[in-house]
Amino acid sequence: MKLSLVVPCYNEEAVLSRFDETVRAALGGLAVEYELCYVDDGSADGTLPRLRSLAQQHHDTTYLSFSRNFGKEPAILAGLRAATGDAVIIMDADLQHPPQLIEKMLDLYQLGHDQVIAKRSRHGDRRLRSALSRLYYRAVNTWVDVELTDGVGDFRLLSRKAVDALLSLPEYNRFSKGLFSWIGFDTVTFDYRNAAREAGETKWRFGSLVNYGIDGMLSFNCRPLRLAIYAGLGLASLATLYTLWIIGAAVVGGVTAPGYVTLVAIIVGLGGLQMVMLGLIGEYIGRIYYETKRRPHFLVKESNADRAPAPAAGP
Ligand code: UDP
Ligand code: MG
Repeated sequence: MKLSLVVPCYNEEAVLSRFDETVRAALGGLAVEYELCYVDDGSADGTLPRLRSLAQQHHDTTYLSFSRNFGKEPAILAGLRAATGDAVIIMDADLQHPPQLIEKMLDLYQLGHDQVIAKRSRHGDRRLRSALSRLYYRAVNTWVDVELTDGVGDFRLLSRKAVDALLSLPEYNRFSKGLFSWIGFDTVTFDYRNAAREAGETKWRFGSLVNYGIDGMLSFNCRPLRLAIYAGLGLASLATLYTLWIIGAAVVGGVTAPGYVTLVAIIVGLGGLQMVMLGLIGEYIGRIYYETKRRPHFLVKESNADRAPAPAAGP
């Protein structure tokens, strides 16, 4: 069998050579043929020259380089399209995904699993970040159809069947955590202890995490819109009850003037709620807008693989 490693790289100059050596050392001991598919996601540092020289040193190395930074999801997609193996492992370039686990993943693959997921502990994460993540996943799993699990990310092995299934999904907004879960297939999960980043720095800022979170909520169904309807119905019923109560009070005790604070609170509260609902609807319309443009997910500036997808190979 042949194994492909897909590695998205964005400004990973500091760690790339070490990554390559470590992975080769781990793979060397295993009885598999392998290839490495590096995707340079428009890095601004020396990542691309490094990839060029790696590809020159090793015949089993494919690289492609994007015309600008498109994000990790498009980079993974490009890697999956370029990979030719019977099984594919997606790995970060920063050695946070221990290459020693490849062997275990292959063993599980050979038992017949189509997705072998390595689930990380949140060891070493800031406590606030872990707590927020837990809260988020609980909310998502009540509102969204697909199951998302905390600590389960892109680090996984996919069989050819699973890769082809992923590649058959044409959407522009790719929230791959959800896509992985959506395609299903025979899935197995095991835990590993998260390592700290070897060098360089994380590309996640708090803002980008929040945006990622919203993507996760909205990428899979229209259930949040249903939530808006429920909230509207609930509020309307409350308003009716309140009106009845006021009328009753006026009949019993006569009309008095207080209630200013109540009024302001209701107006502000309802205004806020309406903004949220409008934003929600706007988000879905925005998504439709993006999908209808049918732009390719990424543009390739340079590659050493003739089998690499042509720039216009959009869905
Ligand atoms: N990455 C990418 N494009 C981006 C951001 C990140 O290809 O726009 C890659 C990055 O090079 C790394 C992986 O995605 O290989 C994970 O990124 P990072 O380590 O910053 O995320 P974290 O581990 O902190 O979640
Ligand atoms: Mg990382």
